[in-house]
Amino acid sequence: MDIDTIAAISTPMGEGAIGIVRISGEDAVAAADKLYKGPRRLEEVDTHTINYGHIQDPDTEETIEEAMVSVLRAPKTYTKEDIIEINCHGGLTSVNRVLQLVLRHGVRLAEPGEFTKRAFLNGRIDLSQAEAVMDLIRAKTDRAMNVAMNQVEGKLSTRIQSLRQKLLETVASVEVNIDYPEYDAEEMTLDMIREKGSEVRDAVDQLLMTAHQGKILREGLSTVIMGRPNVGKSSLLNSLVHENKAIVTDVPGTTRDVVEEYVNVRGVPLRLLDTAGIRETEDIVERLGVERSRKVVKDAELALLVLNYNEVLTEADEELFKLIRDQDSIIIINKTDLEARISLDRVRELANGNPVISTSLLKDEGVDELEEAIRSLFFAGDMDGGDMSYVSNSRHIALLEQAKRSVEEALDAAENGMPIDMVQIDITRAWEVLGEVIGDSVQESLIDQLFSQFCLGK
Ligand code: GDP
Ligand code: ZN
Repeated sequence: MDIDTIAAISTPMGEGAIGIVRISGEDAVAAADKLYKGPRRLEEVDTHTINYGHIQDPDTEETIEEAMVSVLRAPKTYTKEDIIEINCHGGLTSVNRVLQLVLRHGVRLAEPGEFTKRAFLNGRIDLSQAEAVMDLIRAKTDRAMNVAMNQVEGKLSTRIQSLRQKLLETVASVEVNIDYPEYDAEEMTLDMIREKGSEVRDAVDQLLMTAHQGKILREGLSTVIMGRPNVGKSSLLNSLVHENKAIVTDVPGTTRDVVEEYVNVRGVPLRLLDTAGIRETEDIVERLGVERSRKVVKDAELALLVLNYNEVLTEADEELFKLIRDQDSIIIINKTDLEARISLDRVRELANGNPVISTSLLKDEGVDELEEAIRSLFFAGDMDGGDMSYVSNSRHIALLEQAKRSVEEALDAAENGMPIDMVQIDITRAWEVLGEVIGDSVQESLIDQLFSQFCLGK
């Protein structure tokens, strides 16, 4: 067991002027005490106190920083170990100097996510909560933040636990049946499997239904803007980016410099693909070629197709409609300030039930309607609830799908009069798989892999 003491810079979100060096482990207090000059020694102060003092290099007696030092003794801490937090005020360089000093006094640099990993390993949080911390760090919109917060507070865990309980009751009933075949419980057990099994299946289904929304909240709704040259793609991009705060990212590992921009449209994080293409060469098809643009469009979850109100539909427009045929899309007829030349009837026909919005991006008209269309496409029906607990993690989704399959197999087996211990295998499997969501039965390697994705200092 590596129960050595670890440290890292743990700057609060939003990156303020204060930097925090966080130390966790058995020697945390002793190590910090060597570097701390204050009215009392840290070894002597009460737990959960903040202590004003100076950080001093014991070798040179040079004062490095004025600091507030929190002393948090186990077990009521994030990692369930002793924790020291040195709050420095002097910006990044002095925080770094304090960290270097700490690392020269018997403390090792933490791996990414190691604090949270310890919290998990010491039973402070379960796996889905640990993953939620990671999501929090990456949360792109307020709504995504709420989802992650709910998960940190254990909403998903609570739900999963109650489903597992139901399965366990069923298994217990099956056990009775196997152990006492003379006690005629077979019918009862089958009824129970049908009842509890369908309850669990429906509940898992519901969780999976939130998964699509959850994934989008976490990763953004991948969106392409398409249209012939000059119809107003750049104007649309600028208008979306202008009204909503955008974050530009390069997509690593792509052959070309595909650039993405995130914009938050009424709570829906759009991940606008290939915005470089729109900004520079004006035409995704021209830029990437027909085959690749087909693939980009296919991979996208939403296509925004821009047309020109002032021109008759061309062959190229009709081709673009074909490209997005199987896609969620919104058709934007732009330049309504100019004379009508487009055939609206034909556009409606080609739109095939997808929303058609008229805009004059020049005059800033129709943008509200467009944003509303995006919002209602995403938050269809009752998915708007602010405190919905979405499943927003692909590992959880895969496990929930497995659990659902196992429960369905159990239900099938029960229906088809299979021996009851066969049914039990499927139920047990579902119970195990659900356990993996909250980290009850995961292997060490998976844990390592998960936690290495964390930012340093968390
Ligand atoms: P893109 O080639 O599809 O990216 O189109 P742009 O956004 O670059 O726009 C092409 C031209 O159309 C520019 O001169 C814009 O100012 C103009 N334009 C964009 N939207 C409108 C509009 O709603 N009405 C009018 N009259 N012109 C527009
Ligand atoms: Zn343009």
